[in-house]
Amino acid sequence: MEILDGKKLAEEIKNELKSEVAEMLASGKKAPHLAAVLVGEDPASQVYVRSKVRSCEQVGFQSTLIREAATITEEALLALVDKLNQDPEIDGFIVQLPLPKHINEDKITLAINPEKDVDGFHPVNFGRMAQGLPCYLPATPYGIVEMIRRYNLPTQGKEVVVLGRSNIVGTPMSILLSRKGYPGDCTVTLCHSRTKDLTSHTRRADILVAAIGIPEMVTADMVKEGAVVIDVGINRVEDSGTEKGYRLAGDVDFDGVSPKASYITPVPGGVGAMTVVSLLVNTLKAAKGEIYPKKQA
Ligand code: NAD
Repeated sequence: MEILDGKKLAEEIKNELKSEVAEMLASGKKAPHLAAVLVGEDPASQVYVRSKVRSCEQVGFQSTLIREAATITEEALLALVDKLNQDPEIDGFIVQLPLPKHINEDKITLAINPEKDVDGFHPVNFGRMAQGLPCYLPATPYGIVEMIRRYNLPTQGKEVVVLGRSNIVGTPMSILLSRKGYPGDCTVTLCHSRTKDLTSHTRRADILVAAIGIPEMVTADMVKEGAVVIDVGINRVEDSGTEKGYRLAGDVDFDGVSPKASYITPVPGGVGAMTVVSLLVNTLKAAKGEIYPKKQA
């Protein structure tokens, strides 16, 4: 069994980004600029946004963190999105989800200009992804695809089973791995909460992607010998033995499954680390106008 070391790969990619920024600065261009909007006090969201801003600093990007109270109205948040859409200094921005219940997340996502949608959540980017057109790929699936590519894992003709059909992970993952080319050309089964006899599917998987949000739900008996196991889950599990009172667990029972796997991602240090750098890669693409050519001011 080999660990798919997301942390190490993320460092490698960050170093590549640093060199790109140095080149941009040397040729008189400005560094890429990411803005992140954080609404409310959700502890997991605070951790994620902090990590995104810190990663920007590490690679020499500019970053702007905009904090808003959980009581912000939908109108005010839409106005902020519009301001960021118009701001020529901001190359790309994200609105960290989840949002408070009184705000319609779809409305906010739709209001973001697809050209600045570096999370790749806007239907324009999603549709372009589905058709294989240039787009910002959603960060988590992008990170997974990049991990497969950099570890040179074969995908052609492989049976892939994706657990979970969210718009940000499961569904785009299933589309990306079924596309023509590498990494892709897989035969993909997308499982979800209504799937019958989940184990009969998972046991066929050469590549198993778990994005469910249930701690350690995937157990050894569900996994084929030699499978590549990619664990997207980040779950807080109570643990009185730790200082914080909880530990992070994936959707896969790592100790039970890893002896059967050929490759497996740890939690933390696997997919999560790749997600953050993928957002940075998208921001660099935005700054360079690689997906949507920059309009002349
Ligand atoms: P979600 O929470 O929106 O949806 C969960 C999905 O799991 C649904 O599609 C549902 O149908 C499916 N599901 C629920 N119970 C199931 C069962 N018993 N069998 C099969 N499928 C079942 O999904 P999400 O936002 O993709 O998040 C999934 C997990 O991934 C969470 O733990 C989340 O924290 C984590 N996550 C991690 C990253 C990262 O960077 N590593 C990014 C996004 C999400």
